[in-house]
Amino acid sequence: MITPDDHETPQLGSFGDVCRSEDSCVVARRDFNFAMTQARILFVDDSLPMRLRYEALLRKHGFAVETTGDASWALQLLTPPDHGFHLVISDLYMPEMDGRALVEGLRKLPHNKMLPVLVLTGSPDWEDVVPSLEAGASDYVLKERQEHDPQWQGEFLARVKNHAQTGLLAEQLDRMSRTDSLTDLFNRRHGTQRLDEEIFRSRRYGRGLAVCLMDIDHFKKVNDTHGHQAGDDVLIEVASRLAEMSRESDCVIRWGGEEFLVLFPETEMEEAAGIVERFRRELGGSPVCVNRQLFPLEITVSGGVAVLEPQDTAESLVARADSALYKAKESGRNKLLLAQFGEVLPIPV
Ligand SMILES: [Mg+2]
Repeated sequence: MITPDDHETPQLGSFGDVCRSEDSCVVARRDFNFAMTQARILFVDDSLPMRLRYEALLRKHGFAVETTGDASWALQLLTPPDHGFHLVISDLYMPEMDGRALVEGLRKLPHNKMLPVLVLTGSPDWEDVVPSLEAGASDYVLKERQEHDPQWQGEFLARVKNHAQTGLLAEQLDRMSRTDSLTDLFNRRHGTQRLDEEIFRSRRYGRGLAVCLMDIDHFKKVNDTHGHQAGDDVLIEVASRLAEMSRESDCVIRWGGEEFLVLFPETEMEEAAGIVERFRRELGGSPVCVNRQLFPLEITVSGGVAVLEPQDTAESLVARADSALYKAKESGRNKLLLAQFGEVLPIPV
């Protein structure tokens, strides 16, 4: 696969130049250019000369492009939910997996339902084009018959820009639907889905899964005494420290008002408890600065840790962590308790 590093830096905003050279060309909206600098395209074609030609053209117009000659490899690249591509442009005829099969494959993945896919075809015959559109391709483009055809390039680039714009907006919407706007953590909707996925993975591969439900102590008092802006500042700061504390594979969720749920995949009780206990101590020992307050506020958290057991559902797992959290609150706050062996236990020293 050719990577972006093998090529020259893209030149931005040059689409207008192509258009000026030909009066008959469709004039592009130049305000697209800024947004397009962020668009990443995956170009799939079994012909190396085609890959090089289209890659050069797209790069010249400011797109980040990766190419591959193998549709099944393209499908693998598009399998992780955060693959980061905003548009796929695929040849129709390729050995082994063709463009239509690629479209079918990627539309089966929920996160790719809105990913724009343009198919490239040598002929406009319906028997070539319609099946891939029916499989979920967004649009088709005829291949350039001779190189440097400005009319063809104008149309091709306009289509690419429109679809890449849609891809960028879809990514933005997806991010908004998963994120809590105040803290930038995952929201409860996404958290619930991730929890189900992690439970499935844990059972399938026989690995541990720990969760910690955590709550900021006396949060209502922060709001009542210092105002809601200070309350928001505390939430933002605690969230950011939690995100910093977590490992890349962990998932930190704003579960409710001042409640956070942390998922620790492939982690047993002892390790998860060690991580959150360190967090609890560090937070307690390092007051939180909030806007418009002269002095930093001392903020503490209480929490309950639980690990997935064979009979658990997502609800029962979180409920166990919640009962440990409740006991931690009841017995003085600023502490973590473990829900283990049907009991609520302190963290072993
Ligand atoms: Mg081909």
